[in-house]
Amino acid sequence: SVRLQGVVKKHGETTVLHGVDLEIRAGEFFVLLGPSGSGKTTTLRILAGLETVSAGTVSIDGQDVTGAEPGERDVAMVFQSYALYPHMTVAENIGFPLRMVGTPRDTIAKAVEDAAGRVSIGHLLARRPGQLSGGQQQRVALARAIVRQPKLFLLDEPLSNLDAKLRLETRLELKQLQRTLGVTTVYVTHDQEEAMTLADRVAVFMDGRIVQIATPREIFSKPRQVSVAGFIGTPP
Ligand code: ATP
Repeated sequence: SVRLQGVVKKHGETTVLHGVDLEIRAGEFFVLLGPSGSGKTTTLRILAGLETVSAGTVSIDGQDVTGAEPGERDVAMVFQSYALYPHMTVAENIGFPLRMVGTPRDTIAKAVEDAAGRVSIGHLLARRPGQLSGGQQQRVALARAIVRQPKLFLLDEPLSNLDAKLRLETRLELKQLQRTLGVTTVYVTHDQEEAMTLADRVAVFMDGRIVQIATPREIFSKPRQVSVAGFIGTPP
């Protein structure tokens, strides 16, 4: 499981996280939901090790990783922007995390093929990102994230750059993929429908605090605060 205890994040005088406590179970699809600026991305970046904490601790599977670099944690992150390497082929992009850790060439080739197959882009391996649609680029980013079989899969609004139809399709596939891999997943979104369809449990963020952690059903039927009800669009 993944645990945040009393996590505070300050930028200068501004406090963006006011003591976040969170426990995410192994294999869970956990969604961080909340309006823009509520602290979701900061929390995800702290899990990834891309951001330090001002106070509190982070642990993954019982191991304290509070001060650990991204490379020292078994995590993979998919960014909204995909962050692909334009000069590399799709296969090279997907295999990059394995190349970085010195995996043998033929093992990489197999792993790349497997990861690409899981997100249905096995036929695009020789292309470069510039020759792909937005949806295809997004799949490359997903394949690159799963190729190392991380313990923790972090996604920051991964569908937000897709059109409505593609977003819906990809959402279903993503859920399927997560189930198949059984990988603990933390997913950031401000889209309540996305949260409700994807999540095992949701943490609702408001102004740098978690105001409710519950299943989608519970959040809809029993929003803990008027602010939560207002945000997810049900009457209090
Ligand atoms: P969004 O969906 O818009 O990304 P969010 O819920 O993910 O919103 P964060 O990106 O975590 O929110 O930001 C939380 C708050 O922290 C915001 O008010 C933001 O302006 C502030 N913030 C983030 N990074 C910095 C920084 N480097 N310096 C100062 N303030 C920052």
